[in-house]
Amino acid sequence: KINPLTDLSIAKNAKMKPIKEISDKIGISDDYLDLYGKYRAKIDFEKIPMKDTPGKIVLVTAISPTAAGEGKSTVTVGLADAMQKIGQSAIVALREPSLGPVMGVKGGATGGGYAQVLPMEEINLHFNGDLHAITTANNALSAIIDNHLHQGNQLQIDPRRIIWKRVIDMNDRALRHITIGLGGPTQGVPREDGFDITVASEIMAILCLAKDLRDLKERLAQIVIGYTYDKEPVTVRALEAEGALTLLLKEAIKPNLVQTIEGTPAIIHGGPFANIAHGCNSIIATKTAANLADVVVTEAGFGADLGAEKFMHIKSRQGGFSPNAVVIVATIRALKMQGGKQKDSLKEEDVAALLKGTSNLEKHIDTIRAFGIEPVIALNKFSLDTNDEIEALLSWCKEKNVVIALTEVWEKGGEGGVELAKLVMQELEKPSKFAPLYDVTESIEDKVKTIVQKVYGGTDVVFTDTAQKQINQIKSYGWDTMPICMAKTQYSLTDQPKLLGRPNGFTITVREVLPKLGAGFIVCLTGDIMTMPGLPKKPAALNMDVSEDGHAIGLF
Ligand code: ADP
Repeated sequence: KINPLTDLSIAKNAKMKPIKEISDKIGISDDYLDLYGKYRAKIDFEKIPMKDTPGKIVLVTAISPTAAGEGKSTVTVGLADAMQKIGQSAIVALREPSLGPVMGVKGGATGGGYAQVLPMEEINLHFNGDLHAITTANNALSAIIDNHLHQGNQLQIDPRRIIWKRVIDMNDRALRHITIGLGGPTQGVPREDGFDITVASEIMAILCLAKDLRDLKERLAQIVIGYTYDKEPVTVRALEAEGALTLLLKEAIKPNLVQTIEGTPAIIHGGPFANIAHGCNSIIATKTAANLADVVVTEAGFGADLGAEKFMHIKSRQGGFSPNAVVIVATIRALKMQGGKQKDSLKEEDVAALLKGTSNLEKHIDTIRAFGIEPVIALNKFSLDTNDEIEALLSWCKEKNVVIALTEVWEKGGEGGVELAKLVMQELEKPSKFAPLYDVTESIEDKVKTIVQKVYGGTDVVFTDTAQKQINQIKSYGWDTMPICMAKTQYSLTDQPKLLGRPNGFTITVREVLPKLGAGFIVCLTGDIMTMPGLPKKPAALNMDVSEDGHAIGLF
């Protein structure tokens, strides 16, 4: 028997409205809607007339994540529901789940409790085919590259210098390093290759940063897949593959419309991870939502050091907008872990550990303030939080002069987020003072140093010899004026996952620097972070099943 309080059972018992009712509510006419069954649709965004003043953007971010969970998606969904409750026209814009974490540690990624997007099963599994299309486009390019080598290699691509990898939307460590083309002259040209997870692929980033279909095609054409024997870059344009790749993505580029449990419109589109990619849903989705509602509530992955920093420096820059308000989600449990408490003793009240852990929240507050935005803290309440703990955090915030709202959207839906919504509305009234922390024209070294010092709170950055060589090469091609996409552990402000709280005096090591010409950013890999995760000892997948009537079991 299913526990009546799982996210899955709450989602199953919720009554969905036909998606037409949701689209009517935000004025999307039938001409701009492609129905995917009764409860899902894709939006033909290019056809929708633009309104004069776009809606305001609320970015939801969080403290550094711990095993205790922060509930960022839950609060994002609940805040949009609360906005509806106080009479605002609001849309929630989320990322689409990757099967890596769904099958690995996390289970579903559609919010939780009474703050969820629906249909939960379909969004978590193969949602409207988008990740499949991205995977296929990526691997079509791999096939075209290897066929080019096999058919005479007219472009003189050096097989040892191909940087384009294959992808799959799964945590599969065994595919990180592979050898392909074995078996003799008719089986292709042998070379080393490897797989990344789909959500770390440049095509995912491109889909999320493209303005429209034309821009998508141009960006795909600009991808550099590797170098010739003379060390000249080879692009997708040289391989004449951009048309086919765009064709494979022509439906995936359209944002998906669904609904929350309370019938708030939700646009879910694109899902790069925030540790190994840029961590934000698509510019198309955010802009479409801003064109259809007065308030867009959106999230960026992991803590403010990762998703939010990239939202400000990459997504906002390329999209030509900036967040009008920022919410930082924190929980008592996670703050206690940041203060040194172990996961198995989180049930005990511990105000001292909580107050120690506020150092992590404080850093993220400082970071958002550095961007010129005054954050609002959402305390995502869990049932075991004690009154003393809650009071301690509320008074800490008062001392720090930062506003905080006790948020109970997991338990109560939008009703539990009304206070938060009101505080956010106050911030939205204020004129924007947003400013990025670095300029793209600065050197790669300076840009990374700014992120390390102003966002992570570290002292310095060290580049390995390999990284320095790559930087020199990037400069020689004139590609160094792109923003930086850091790849760093989500658990710590440093590049060492175990250092919690607010470490200081640390140095970040950049071990590789990779240009992504189509996405328009430079990836810097730090610490041990990997672009293909592995499954944990007991993957979430082992608790999953399907009932005889065809419904999911164990998707959390
Ligand atoms: P994040 O976006 O930070 O990864 P999610 O919103 O996906 O987190 O939530 C992770 C899990 O935690 C979900 O299963 C959700 O139901 C649960 N959760 C979130 N907030 C609460 C809460 N206040 N009380 C109990 N469980 C919660």
